[in-house]
Amino acid sequence: MLTVKEKKQYMAPPSMNRTRKLISNRMDKITMKVVFVGDQAVGKTSLRNRYLNRTYDNKYKITIGAEFSVKRFLKESLTVCMQIWDLAGQAQFKPVRALYYSGTVGAVIVYDVTRRDSFENIPQWVEEILRHNQGKPVPLLIVANKIDLRDANPHLDHCVTKEEGEQMARRLEHYFREQGTPVVVQFCEVSAKLGAGVDDAIERFLKSLVIEA
Ligand code: GDP
Ligand code: MG
Repeated sequence: MLTVKEKKQYMAPPSMNRTRKLISNRMDKITMKVVFVGDQAVGKTSLRNRYLNRTYDNKYKITIGAEFSVKRFLKESLTVCMQIWDLAGQAQFKPVRALYYSGTVGAVIVYDVTRRDSFENIPQWVEEILRHNQGKPVPLLIVANKIDLRDANPHLDHCVTKEEGEQMARRLEHYFREQGTPVVVQFCEVSAKLGAGVDDAIERFLKSLVIEA
C-alpha cells in the first residue's frame, strides 16, 4: 500500500500552494466543486442523499461513474453554488474518475468504520486526488461512516476507532505542512443511516472552503 510519505512526487511547488480554482466567480455568485470519494459501498451516495435530500435507502445501488448535485447556500451576500460530485469507488471506474477531479476545491474522503481496508486506503485516495489536480492538495474532510454498526456491535472485531480516524487526519495535515503545502484536514464520525452528525460536518466543511477560496 502506498504510504503518505511516498506521495511526494505529486506535490505542487510551494508557489502554487493554496491555489483555488473557481469554475466561475461573479460579484454575487460563485460556483465551486467538491468531490466525494472512498472505496465502494462505504456510503458516499448515502451521505450525499442524507445531506441534500434528508433521505436514506437501505438498498445498495451502484453509482455508475459519477453523479452530481448542487447545494446552494448564502455566505454573507454571496450565493455559493457548490457542485457535489459523487464518484464511483470501484477500480473499474478509475479512468472515469480521473475526468472529474480537475478544479476541485475540496474533497470528502469516506470510509466505513467496520471495514478497515477502506480506512487503510485513504492515502491512495489522497494520491488519486493529487494526481488529477496538478499535484495541488485541497482541503479534506475525512468521514468515518456507519458508526451505528460499530456502536450496535461493540464486539465487532477490527472496527476503526475514532482515535485512529483523528490520527489519520492529523498525519495527513502534518504531511502537507512538511511539504510546504499546508491544507486543513477535518475529521468527523457519522452515520448516514441515522443522520447523526452528517449535516453539521458537511456544512462546516463546505463553508470553510468558501473562506479558503
Ligand atoms: P457508496 O458506494 O460509497 O456510494 O455507498 P452507498 O451510499 O451506496 O452505501 C452502500 C451501502 O451501505 C448501502 O446498502 C447503504 O444503505 C449502506 N449504508 C450507507 N451508510 C450507512 C450507515 O451509516 N449505516 C449503515 N448501517 N449502512 C449504511
Ligand atoms: Mg455511490
